[in-house]
Amino acid sequence: MLIVDNDLCVGCGLCEDNCAFAAIEVVDGLAVVGDTCTLCGACVEHCEVEALVLEGAEKNVQMDLASWSGVWVYCEFRAGVLASVSLELLGIGRKLADARGVELSAVLIGSHTEETAEKLIAHGADRVYRADDPALSFFTDEAYGAVMTKLIREHKPEIVLAGATAIGRSFIPGVANSLGAGLTADCTQLDIRDDDGALLQTRPAFGGNIMATIVCPHSRPQMSTVRPNVMKALEADATRTGKIIDVSLDPAMLETKVRVLESVISEHDDVNIQESDKLVGGGRGLDSEKGFELIRELAKSIDGSVAASRAVVDSGWIGYPHQVGQTGKTVAPKLYIACGISGAIQHVAGMQSSETIVAINRDAEAPIFNVADFGIVGDLFEVIPKLISTIEGRRKS
Ligand SMILES: Cc1cc2nc3c(=O)[nH]c(=O)nc-3n(C[C@H](O)[C@H](O)[C@H](O)COP(=O)(O)OP(=O)(O)OC[C@H]3O[C@@H](n4cnc5c(N)ncnc54)[C@H](O)[C@@H]3O)c2cc1C
Repeated sequence: MLIVDNDLCVGCGLCEDNCAFAAIEVVDGLAVVGDTCTLCGACVEHCEVEALVLEGAEKNVQMDLASWSGVWVYCEFRAGVLASVSLELLGIGRKLADARGVELSAVLIGSHTEETAEKLIAHGADRVYRADDPALSFFTDEAYGAVMTKLIREHKPEIVLAGATAIGRSFIPGVANSLGAGLTADCTQLDIRDDDGALLQTRPAFGGNIMATIVCPHSRPQMSTVRPNVMKALEADATRTGKIIDVSLDPAMLETKVRVLESVISEHDDVNIQESDKLVGGGRGLDSEKGFELIRELAKSIDGSVAASRAVVDSGWIGYPHQVGQTGKTVAPKLYIACGISGAIQHVAGMQSSETIVAINRDAEAPIFNVADFGIVGDLFEVIPKLISTIEGRRKS
């Protein structure tokens, strides 16, 4: 609860100016707290006369920040395959570690991980903590969470990064909770603050309308998840050397209430739009599910895959694995052709890193044209067939 000490309050308005939620107002010379207060504490920090107190929410100030050192990346490994986001995180992790003058470590959990550990070193890691056990061949929140928590407690890294994938999103919040640390999910940018070396974690907020930079100055580790395809992986350097440390695992740690009976490849697993370098995206301008036949035809003509806006996924015209955007996937293909997509900020957040963007829309004012390299103003039902026949004609000749 946020308490105002009316004897100390001077009605200066600093609290009001610094409240992002418009939850505090100066009335008749005194601060008054409203219903929208989130107890974020920004007003308390800015009050020069200490008239504001957050009761029951004492800040967990850790006095030994200096004893936490190093940047860690959880490298996701599933069914013998390393998730590409792991290498992207090693890329940004390397930059952060160099800026802090500390080591970059990878955490690899799974079974039969030998070759992968070497690969992580070639992509920037100085150390790899390898927890390899048949009991870890399938992901479970409990076992992976226990291993990760134990390692962080033992080695005290100042920064821990993980992919905002289904697995990362599933167990990393539990790890952060066990450690009493904060977690910034879905970051799109990471940097180091010059003054105090704190991690600047930037992510879309308020429905993607603003970018918020979040800092955890008082606690360690600083933990973030990062979306795939946002950061750049480093080229592999086979001459890099590093240390692979085999983690000793207490059998009790690997116990889990979850029994994996069978692992089945999802029928959607062939739709990995994040791996495709050419995407054709369809939106509500397609009018109906049938409109996707045209999109599939165009995608086929350029050997690409089909992507979609949330509007059409919500309408059931196509499955969620195709969705691009803030609540879908982030993609960065060489070519993205947006057809009948208006270009809402939440969609653009997921495709703006594409190398070349082509937009087809009958509304010349559609915001998608602001991010497009090439724009075609016209009816997609007329434009796309012409495009397909031109592409096929060129291919034949
Ligand atoms: C918290 C939150 C998260 C969200 N996450 C996502 C997300 O991950 N991904 C996402 O895509 N959206 C997301 N949205 C929704 C987003 O705000 C938009 O509503 C959505 O992207 C609109 O989809 P659209 O462009 O297909 O449809 P519309 O905005 O309806 O646009 C349709 C476009 O088609 C054009 N058009 C119509 N007919 C034709 C024609 N015959 N030929 C050519 N052009 C035509 C129109 O001019 C229009 O520009 C999110 C929203 C919120 C609030």
